[in-house]
Amino acid sequence: MTPAPVLLITGASRGIGAATARLAAQRGWDVVINYARDAAAAQAVAAEVRAAGQRALVLQADVAHEDQVLAMYARIDAEWGRLGGLVNNAGIVDRQARLDEMGSARLQRMMAVNVVGALVVAREAVRRMSTRHGGAGGAIVNVSSAAARLGSPAMYVDYAASKGAIDTFTHGLAIELAAEGVRVNAVRPGITDTDIHADSGDAERAFKLAGIIPMQRPGRADEVAAAIVWLLSAEASYTTGAIVDVAGGR
Ligand code: NAP
Repeated sequence: MTPAPVLLITGASRGIGAATARLAAQRGWDVVINYARDAAAAQAVAAEVRAAGQRALVLQADVAHEDQVLAMYARIDAEWGRLGGLVNNAGIVDRQARLDEMGSARLQRMMAVNVVGALVVAREAVRRMSTRHGGAGGAIVNVSSAAARLGSPAMYVDYAASKGAIDTFTHGLAIELAAEGVRVNAVRPGITDTDIHADSGDAERAFKLAGIIPMQRPGRADEVAAAIVWLLSAEASYTTGAIVDVAGGR
């Protein structure tokens, strides 16, 4: 029997990453569930992947630390072998604030996780999937945000700028790898009902802002996951460099 393709999802212990792990398992992927702090939540997602009949591997790594990312990939190489897909999903926000209220430690951390972390995680996937490196191809889906378009004034322009970088890197990397068997796309979620909003200081934010969303409701993590898993799939075989808005019209 051909082994199932292996998918690494960063930040898969909750929210959009966890929903993607569940759906990917239903579609036949074996899933590596990366997380930063919440081992119990990551193990619970792994149990759901296994219940769907697929293998699950839970690996802790803070994507802002290159040594931890390299150790994570070394474990995947040793225990599962060939990587077929990456969902570059781990991301953070911080308290709602204006730029003139933000300290440099916050700005450094935002870029270290959301930008440099995503680039390093993608680099290691390229080294394994690109035909230039002897790989058999694959797909990368980066998780951006509608904030990249909107700028998030008086909320978190640092976060918005980090997601602008994700869009630009998606575009460039897609072309860089287009003839090497690796497709690179992004999804840009709008306001989605996950626990991330509590980190911005308002756990109810997603529902409070429903009125500014043309569809008058926040998105669900499984709605974002559906776009991600489609972009990973063979049905998207001619789609690369695309940025798919999943934002209720906003
Ligand atoms: P979430 O519920 O806060 O989940 C974040 C996940 O990322 C958790 O699994 C967390 O693991 C992990 N994580 C955080 N920092 C990490 C790090 N340094 N290294 C590795 N993993 C890390 O977030 P979400 O709402 O699902 O968001 C997922 C992605 O969608 C993010 O990139 C976010 O920017 C983007 N997005 C979200 C929304 C929204 O409204 N929810 C809108 C647009 C874009 P632990 O729990 O173990 O720390």
